[in-house]
Amino acid sequence: MDAVPGYKHIKLKYGPYSASKLLMAKCPSRFESKFIHKDVVVGDSVAAAKGSAIHSIFEKITAVHIKNKMESTAVYPTAAEVESWVSEAIGKFPAALGHAELIHRSAMKYMAHPNVLLSRATTTEKKVALALYEEETFIDDVAPKRILRLIPYEGEAERGQNPDAFFCVAMDQLSVDEEIKTVTVVDHKTTPNTRYSEEFDFQMGCYAWVASLLYPNYKIRTQIHYCHPELDHYAYPKTWEKDDLQWIRDQIFGQVMAIESYQEYPAVSGSGCDYCHMSNSCTLVRKLREQNERADMNLTINSFDDYKRVAEYLVPLKKLTEMVNDKLKDAASIYAPLGVSLPGVFIGDKVSEKVDWADSEDKLKVELERADAVIADPTVEEAVKEKYRQLKEVKNLSGLMEANGIDPDAYRAWKGDKLKMLYKADRPKMMEFLNYFLVKEKSTRFGTSKN
Ligand code: SF4
Repeated sequence: MDAVPGYKHIKLKYGPYSASKLLMAKCPSRFESKFIHKDVVVGDSVAAAKGSAIHSIFEKITAVHIKNKMESTAVYPTAAEVESWVSEAIGKFPAALGHAELIHRSAMKYMAHPNVLLSRATTTEKKVALALYEEETFIDDVAPKRILRLIPYEGEAERGQNPDAFFCVAMDQLSVDEEIKTVTVVDHKTTPNTRYSEEFDFQMGCYAWVASLLYPNYKIRTQIHYCHPELDHYAYPKTWEKDDLQWIRDQIFGQVMAIESYQEYPAVSGSGCDYCHMSNSCTLVRKLREQNERADMNLTINSFDDYKRVAEYLVPLKKLTEMVNDKLKDAASIYAPLGVSLPGVFIGDKVSEKVDWADSEDKLKVELERADAVIADPTVEEAVKEKYRQLKEVKNLSGLMEANGIDPDAYRAWKGDKLKMLYKADRPKMMEFLNYFLVKEKSTRFGTSKN
């Protein structure tokens, strides 16, 4: 490792880290097996193998697209060549065999539909490794300064990520547009839906953060390519502002330091289980499966038929919920008039308040007529008089909105929830006024709510 004067290199116990390693650490048991015991992984999970196979083919296809851009040509591989790429990829990741047809279709779609941001300045599989250094001497009570330095992605002694690194990324595509000083990182995702995923967002944030270190003062954006053949869709690019990048940096540092001091390694199930090398042997997941089966309800989804079967559970469940609610409602007045609190949930009558905006408007008219009398009445408190003075100024609800900088048309359909919006609109003075004059209706509704 190169020495940096005044700084010492920090070598991490379980480094180098990456976005996916941090996500894996959400289940400490999986992390322990893979990165501490370094258990020999007998086989990839199907989902992980499918992703790896698709990525290895896409790398080749991206190279074709870039070559075509550079040479202003449109030369594409033959169908037989693509087929051989698919076979080769499945040979490398055999657990993906059941998805060969899907992988092939994804490849063909990507061949026909590269992303528009791809250019001759695009790099595929951009690999970056950063080493962490800490100030050797620093003033008492002040945290030592940390710096990051670029180091080779692969270690000298062994293949794979450089063990001296703090954080590594391998970006599917990185494009630099020098004209508009913008860097775009594109990541291929094989999920069959485009739903927002916190994990994806974090991963893209990690890429954006590293890209911002490589290209300071450039605009940094990321784009997800949903490459499942039924989707074949590029999400709208996300631009990462300075604050976002700082947040990601803090997350990375915070999580790495926490993982380095893990004392226990419990299994925590979550979305990562589908990609976990232990998903077939994990006791927690096995217990959950057994529980599902005991309840005569198998929640495992591995195919469309599974999806349909699980979706069908909702019909009787909905009916059952209605029946249980009706039963409880009938018995509530006798056995639990105040409801019952169970862990995390309250079951019983909940009082809710609604504003009757039409009656409130009428009330304001009536109150306006007696405003002068109230203001002149020596027995009335000054705070109340003040409200009547304000009422005289605004005359009605619409006038009040306007006086407070709110477009009354936006509140044309007066409903209870508008009140919340007014609270959110952060106009405490107006709320004080409204609360004094509004006509509210209280009602009770039986059901469940969070405690
Ligand atoms: S299957 Fe899920 S809960 Fe079990 S070790 Fe893997 S990630 Fe953790």
